[in-house]
Amino acid sequence: MISKHILSKSTYIKGLQCEKALYLTKKHPYLRDKLSIEKRAKFQRGTDVGILAQECFPGGVNMAPNSPSQFPKRVIETMENLQNPMVNVMYEAVFQYNDTLVMVDILVRDGEQWKAIEVKSSLRLSPTYYNDAALQYYVLHGCGVPLSDFQLMHLNGDYVKHGPIDVKQLFQHVSVLDYAKEQEPVIAANVERLKNVVALSHAPSVAIGPHCREPYECDFIGHCWKNVPQESPDVPFTIDYKALFAQSPSPKPRNVAYLSLLYHYPAVPELDGTKPYQEMLLAFAITGDNEPDGHTFWNCIDDRSCWQEGITLLESLLGHYDLVVTFTPNQLPWHKVFNLYEVLQNAQMFHPLLKKGMSLQHTFEAMFHGAKLFEHSRIIVEALAQDLTSYEQTKDDLIAENEAIKSIYQHFFK
Ligand code: SF4
Repeated sequence: MISKHILSKSTYIKGLQCEKALYLTKKHPYLRDKLSIEKRAKFQRGTDVGILAQECFPGGVNMAPNSPSQFPKRVIETMENLQNPMVNVMYEAVFQYNDTLVMVDILVRDGEQWKAIEVKSSLRLSPTYYNDAALQYYVLHGCGVPLSDFQLMHLNGDYVKHGPIDVKQLFQHVSVLDYAKEQEPVIAANVERLKNVVALSHAPSVAIGPHCREPYECDFIGHCWKNVPQESPDVPFTIDYKALFAQSPSPKPRNVAYLSLLYHYPAVPELDGTKPYQEMLLAFAITGDNEPDGHTFWNCIDDRSCWQEGITLLESLLGHYDLVVTFTPNQLPWHKVFNLYEVLQNAQMFHPLLKKGMSLQHTFEAMFHGAKLFEHSRIIVEALAQDLTSYEQTKDDLIAENEAIKSIYQHFFK
């Protein structure tokens, strides 16, 4: 009889970041913050890349349970499959040891042993990924699984797509077996400590601090920080006006337009000649200052294979204006573009809302009290949905961004 597990990969990693976050996840999950659009998109990307990685090891048995109640059954079936010579590959194999449950992305028979593979959708490996692998190794070792290797498999930044995706070239493998073996005593101690946390009758007392956002933004920030006085939006921003005006467009432009750009960074390259996470223009909107009703030219590149044509079109439109004002952290090659993101950074603009980094949304809200703008990532998700409703919404949102850009520009330079 398999008892219900206490820890999993995600709760263990959460517990390493903050014991209170672990306790709240287990005992009071309803206190969690609403999942942001950005986080949801990140989870989906991880799932998509994980499924693609399985193609490197075809013909596997999928052990993923349909619901959490199936975990004990899957643990038993996984152990049975280890002994079944007909099974050479398992996806999401489920193991449980010392009340800790892990699902191994890919498990491949390797002679008398097995090779475990954890798939990551990133280009680089973070310390958290190593901790994650070390926990899985601890559980597999505890279950008596003979392992020839434990690898992290992640996207290869040098891969360039030509024709259908070559999954073998798309991924890189890094062995972490030696690290995981070394870490076993540390992991064992952590598991005991975190199990004790879950067994507490009250949430441990943990002060809020930088750990609430590192390495991941905690799900309970809304709960733990609710009594912290919020940064007042009424605080004035500061800026080095001398440095700001030294960058004023010269000569004074007569024909100004405002440009919003929407970029997409597909983890798996979509077009020939592109690499994982390569920047691609998805949509843009240009609103002319002197045109009737602030006319906006808008283009959503729904056929991604035409994205270069989209750039050509944008470049030809830029030619109609003396100056095109935008706000983007991306490096732009066009000399007529006046990028407020760079200009305000050079002028060391500061406001508490900009502590986490300068964005159009926060700059706009910091400058104009009571003004509100949505998350830029929301527009990217809409544009990727590629249906008529989302196109209309994307267009409206980009026009609203142009209005915000215009307000900022005119505040300083008109
Ligand atoms: S918000 Fe901070 S203190 Fe609260 S649970 Fe999360 S990490 Fe811990």
